[in-house]
Amino acid sequence: MAFQSPKGTYDILPGSPFLAVRDGLLAPSVRAGYAYVEAPVFEDTELFSRGVGASTDVVTKEMFTFPERGLTLRPEGTAGVVRAVVEHGLQRGQLPVKLRYAGPMFRAERPQAGRFRQFQQVGIEALGVTDPALDAEVVALAADAFTGLGLTGVRLLLTSLGDPACRPAYREELGAFLAGLDLDDATRARAALNPLRVLDDKRPEVQALLVDAPLMVDRLCPQCTAHHEGVLEGLAALGVAFEPAPRLVRGLDYYMRTTFEFVHDGLGAQSAVGGGGRYDGLSEAIGGPPLPGIGWALGIERTVLALEAEGVSVAPEAGPAVFVVPLGAAAKAWAVAFVGALRTAGVATDLAYGDRGLKGAMKAADRSGARWAVVVGDRDLEADVAQLKDLTSGEQTAVPLSELLEQLL
Ligand code: AMP
Repeated sequence: MAFQSPKGTYDILPGSPFLAVRDGLLAPSVRAGYAYVEAPVFEDTELFSRGVGASTDVVTKEMFTFPERGLTLRPEGTAGVVRAVVEHGLQRGQLPVKLRYAGPMFRAERPQAGRFRQFQQVGIEALGVTDPALDAEVVALAADAFTGLGLTGVRLLLTSLGDPACRPAYREELGAFLAGLDLDDATRARAALNPLRVLDDKRPEVQALLVDAPLMVDRLCPQCTAHHEGVLEGLAALGVAFEPAPRLVRGLDYYMRTTFEFVHDGLGAQSAVGGGGRYDGLSEAIGGPPLPGIGWALGIERTVLALEAEGVSVAPEAGPAVFVVPLGAAAKAWAVAFVGALRTAGVATDLAYGDRGLKGAMKAADRSGARWAVVVGDRDLEADVAQLKDLTSGEQTAVPLSELLEQLL
């Protein structure tokens, strides 16, 4: 039996919008000075248990771990990037350190539409500065990423999760509130681990019990209030619309203050196309110096699904501009050299390989998407010409070989 790609994985095939979407999502961040970094796809397991949070589903249930080696395939990008920043002391240079990344992440989730075990994210991180204007920049760059691709249906949900000064008291208050509710055992267990997680419960009957639950945004300390107001001002200045989401809780433990998620309503159950937030305690959690940070990760597959849902097409990778069709042995020898010269001159060029005759070769030329076909027979060569065919208009002219390269350039 032939092999198939493992459950929860997929192949990116020719014609896929993948690269265009990946690069399009990061384009606004490139313009804003976020430099490219790439960390390994596996790290010490403890980096994730400490950096992502031991109470999270990601760490407790979904990690691809090699226990005998103490290594885990990265389930997300932030922990590795912060590890790299600290390891190389980038925080001793200019602040904020602004970084962007792209690559595969691995989570052993139950596969379904828009949920894979190997999936691709792009992300940015801005480290070393606590400035609400920077939070606003980071959020705006994600909003721009989606609109830049032509999406109009992405909504931004945003809140503040407080900080170590105000969250503990709120957490206790919420815990006490939840203790007074008639909740099932599994939900009680979640509440014991992290009461904030219960707020995010999608079941309507649970949400009905939570209408009077205390909310973090109403319990922020003065510093967090000022920071949050600064973020909202920054977003207004940048023209970024958002919906207050006081019950938003994210799947990773390290978020504080600014926390956000981007959702798209055309995706069914897996509606989140991206998310992020501020994670000022993360560096210390993984043994680094105090290093505030904020960032996001956007899912490429779900962005592609959102584009499909909105009927927005993204141009796949461009093919060759010129397609050369040799007919006969002498013409083939000339064509191989000519294609090499065109490519060296910077023109994307392909050649009809396999000596299949004119009809098959012209079909290949059409399929290639090239604008120009160069058709040469042995008799053309003797006359020192090639037939240059405009594949859009069908017009064909004989061009002297000595002028052909110049003309195509
Ligand atoms: P997270 O790292 O959980 O905040 O996820 C950020 C984004 O990555 C989500 O909004 C999704 O778009 C995407 N994502 C997360 N998990 C998966 C998955 N299992 N399959 C596909 N995309 C995912």
